[in-house]
Amino acid sequence: MIVDYHLHLRDSEERIAHDVDAVEPFVETAAARGVDEIGFTEHVYYFRQTRRLWDRPDQIEHCVYDLDAYVEAVLEAKRRGLPVKLGLEVDYVGERQHELAAILGPYPWDYLLGSVHWIDGLSVDGGPERGVWAEWPVDEVWRRYFEALAELAGSGHVDVLAHPDLAKIFGLRPERIEYPDLAGVALEISTAGRYKPVGRLYPDLELLQHTGLPITLASDAHAPQNVGRDFAHALELARAAGYETVTVFDQRSSRQEPLG
Ligand SMILES: [Zn+2]
Ligand SMILES: [Zn+2]
Repeated sequence: MIVDYHLHLRDSEERIAHDVDAVEPFVETAAARGVDEIGFTEHVYYFRQTRRLWDRPDQIEHCVYDLDAYVEAVLEAKRRGLPVKLGLEVDYVGERQHELAAILGPYPWDYLLGSVHWIDGLSVDGGPERGVWAEWPVDEVWRRYFEALAELAGSGHVDVLAHPDLAKIFGLRPERIEYPDLAGVALEISTAGRYKPVGRLYPDLELLQHTGLPITLASDAHAPQNVGRDFAHALELARAAGYETVTVFDQRSSRQEPLG
């Protein structure tokens, strides 16, 4: 079994297109690359239903789409028999995590990704001289990043941690990395990091080995042609870490299937 559980629904112009017609090109690329099942995981801050959670201008600017329309597009694809799952990429919002979870509660998610893109309103991946990097020394950024990640994992509101060591995106690392103890979630192996300044998969082998958590596979594609991109590398990393299974989600419950 091969899954790609981190996709952003866009049309061929790479514009947001939360309709069922936009799903089909993603399914076609998946089939061509031997990916058995795909999951859509739009950013939670794109939806006006979550508007009150955000105070950053770059979030509010995006916060105009209808969550019901997005959910309906994916559900319609399911009704047509396409091998798709309904997910969302949910941001870490600190003490407001329960409030965000309550907004998402009524929808029939197969799984929710958890991402730490911001800590105390400061961006982790916005630029190497901005956000958290302008505020704290490198070792402090990593400490706070993993603290937030562990809090998100422990919240019970997400099922998979997306790009789990995103703090490495610009290649800035402390001398010694203290990996967090995480439980109750899966980790995604994401090929998106290969196209970032760090040029590597997320996460490092050491984080997989430290946590021993189950895995999913992810491209973080923002265009249909990138579904399943570089998955040979993801499989290689998974096998190097000793994995023989991949996690499959359905209605927020998970099972393990043979990997490959
Ligand atoms: Zn992300
Ligand atoms: Zn994403």
